[in-house]
Amino acid sequence: MTQRALIVGLGISGMSAAIALRGQGWTPVIIERASQRRRGGYFIGLREEGKTAAEALGVLDVMEKRTPERIRFWDVRRDGSRRRIADVTQETNAPIAVLRGDIEEALWQGVDGKVEVRFGTEPVSIVNGDTQTQVTLRSDKGHDVIESFDLVIGADGVRSTVRKLIFGVDEVFFRPLGTMLCAFPLARPVAGFDAGDGLMVADIKRALTVFPLEGRPSTALFSYRTRSPVDPASRDPLATLRQIFADLDVDGIISRALEDLANTDDFLFDSVQMVKMPRWSKGRVLLLGDAAWCLTLYSGMGASAGMIGGRALGEALAAHANNVDAALTAFETRMRPFVRKHQRFVALRSQLFVPSTRFSLWGRRVLWQILLRSRKYPFKNAS
Ligand SMILES: Cc1cc2nc3c(=O)[nH]c(=O)nc-3n(C[C@H](O)[C@H](O)[C@H](O)COP(=O)(O)OP(=O)(O)OC[C@H]3O[C@@H](n4cnc5c(N)ncnc54)[C@H](O)[C@@H]3O)c2cc1C
Repeated sequence: MTQRALIVGLGISGMSAAIALRGQGWTPVIIERASQRRRGGYFIGLREEGKTAAEALGVLDVMEKRTPERIRFWDVRRDGSRRRIADVTQETNAPIAVLRGDIEEALWQGVDGKVEVRFGTEPVSIVNGDTQTQVTLRSDKGHDVIESFDLVIGADGVRSTVRKLIFGVDEVFFRPLGTMLCAFPLARPVAGFDAGDGLMVADIKRALTVFPLEGRPSTALFSYRTRSPVDPASRDPLATLRQIFADLDVDGIISRALEDLANTDDFLFDSVQMVKMPRWSKGRVLLLGDAAWCLTLYSGMGASAGMIGGRALGEALAAHANNVDAALTAFETRMRPFVRKHQRFVALRSQLFVPSTRFSLWGRRVLWQILLRSRKYPFKNAS
């Protein structure tokens, strides 16, 4: 009899796990709280490790790529002057630029018609046994059903319900970075810049970064630092950002971007939390992706980690075909060093995007310019 896994969350991690488990003869069932698939989303840079994982999952070729052919990044100063800086998406090894929705669309092709997906469904209680786990699933019509699974995988994001039900409250595992973010697609190109131009308007404790995408509107990413990150549901992002960025409206870049925010539903406004857990599984429940280890956007590795994790889980279950406990231990042993490596410098890396002091504002500018000079940029001299 094939083994059944419940995967909570139809994001990058959940779909990656579903494809990998199915490849090992498991029967995954995905539940997703939303009533339909989400699309769009924000800029994601997929680095070498992410590309390799996407390839292994069979989705790299079908993934839409949106790296602009002619990419240039600018540091825009308060006085309106601009300087060329290194492409901030390439500061380690060359990624491909995609939208989060592009990765999900590619993964969906490996899921659609092959894996049972139930929309509008979430877990409300989990009874964790030694070999089987009983989950009460609630549909958005208010119906509850109880089902048994050989494994439950919580791939339900940074504010994971599975983590709350089995491991404990968010506060125990959250490591707040003291920043808030708001990401959304710009409705129009930034005035005075070319298609393919990215830019940063940064000041102490606040920054707007615009990430260019080929054939799609650029992603605007507002970040600001605060001692008390708010519950995103309790604040209006537009009013908050208008207030925080009021005196940084260089050439109207900020106010035009915020007009675009006012006219879109496709935005993410949240506090930035790293998730740190001593162990990712308990009994027959495992956490995966942001739910387990959220690396945050500053690592530039969260999406890649979701795919790598899904694939690693499939391989661990294959290597320990009749021993799920051993497979979960092997998965943890394999993923820990990778996650540790990418969590280590997240606070420091956040300074590149939203500097906390005058010194880091200055240091960050110098660094981006050194990186520009030290790399072979095809458009280095075009300014
Ligand atoms: C602005 C920004 C920029 C980023 N840039 C990059 C980048 O350049 N490179 C990179 O690699 N990563 C980047 N990331 C990180 C990356 O987007 C995430 O790490 C990745 O999308 C996490 O995927 P996930 O599947 O683990 O979680 P999620 O994407 O959060 O998916 C969770 C899914 O679970 C569903 N769900 C939630 N709760 C329940 C429930 N109770 N029941 C059922 N379903 C539920 C949600 O609706 C969702 O579909 C960025 C993130 C942000 C915010």
